[in-house]
Amino acid sequence: MPEEQPIAVPAEFDPEDEYRPEPEPEPLPPAWMDGKVRIGIHTSIAGSYLNALESARKLGCNSLQIFSASPRMWRGRPARIPELDAEAFRTRREELCLGPLVVHANYLINLAAAQPMLRTRSIQAFHDEIVRAVALGADFLVVHPGARGEGDAKQAIDTIVESVKQATKRVPLAGLKILIENTAGMGTAIGSRLEEVGEIVAGLQRDLPAGACLDTAHLFAAGYDIKSESGLASTIAQMETTVGLENVPVFHANDSKVVLGGRVDRHQHIGKGKIGREAFARILQHPQLGAPAGEGQSGRAFLAETPIDDPGDDRRNVATLWELAGLKGQAPEAEKGFSMLTPALQRKISAERRRSSRSNKSSVARSTKSGIRRARTTKRARRRG
Ligand SMILES: [Zn+2]
Ligand SMILES: [Zn+2]
Repeated sequence: MPEEQPIAVPAEFDPEDEYRPEPEPEPLPPAWMDGKVRIGIHTSIAGSYLNALESARKLGCNSLQIFSASPRMWRGRPARIPELDAEAFRTRREELCLGPLVVHANYLINLAAAQPMLRTRSIQAFHDEIVRAVALGADFLVVHPGARGEGDAKQAIDTIVESVKQATKRVPLAGLKILIENTAGMGTAIGSRLEEVGEIVAGLQRDLPAGACLDTAHLFAAGYDIKSESGLASTIAQMETTVGLENVPVFHANDSKVVLGGRVDRHQHIGKGKIGREAFARILQHPQLGAPAGEGQSGRAFLAETPIDDPGDDRRNVATLWELAGLKGQAPEAEKGFSMLTPALQRKISAERRRSSRSNKSSVARSTKSGIRRARTTKRARRRG
């Protein structure tokens, strides 16, 4: 006969237990974290933050990048976003199931600056970027590493890490991750070598959530031959040994107007530049880059920052990315005929361009030519090395 089971009476009873609320359930991952590859484009916040979300939807994206303020001015808008606007944005984004949301920081920020005034200003501006990105509920904040000026790369890398740490002081990041973007290597820009990006990321990760955003046009202009099959394989191998692909949640998918190693940052429509369609299909479908992640995680995002020369270029570039990724079936439906560039806006822009074209044309030609010259020298140097 089994012994009679005594009724369990806790030896110690804390009367306060009666009033303790149930533990909060683990929050479910947002619906867009379905592990699938994410495709999107940089969309404009002109008029309202909400417009960026609507544009992304109409362009057939399931992910997007925005600026949270004017990218070429120290202070285009008030530094803070009114909470009502931020809340409306977060709610609408959830409804549209768009993610990840990437915010690109202001171009004037130079976290590597040795000059104290510029450095202080950059840290303050980046701090504001973080506050706005958190308010909008962004997943990632992308920033260029900066330019070293007269200093050496090692010094610059230490300065960048220190600047980011200072900028994140006393801001709860609330799930926001800082991504360091690789550069084309114009002038004294840091980050054209994956080793440099890797060092910055490793330095940051000791204290905060950080990773890298790799731009295909910048890689190519910096001399990484992602156009050829073998070049892509060796570039991916270098990504693995420097940054680590698990630290690259976002790629900027841009074709390049500039040749391999040209060291100039000029984006082109996907498939229409020096990288080309075939290479983009290889990149997007590469098992190490374009493979889906697990359920409840974010798939890797490929975001275009391609030019919009004619109305519809934005929609077409997004469609091309879906097509070359072999994922046309997963693409959200785009709104027929929609473009962020309306004919009226195009007229305004081309009028502005005509005004400044004469002076710019000659300088662009000069910089491209010197870029090519430098590319030849680099190639020769590499052959020697
Ligand atoms: Zn960028
Ligand atoms: Zn670029």
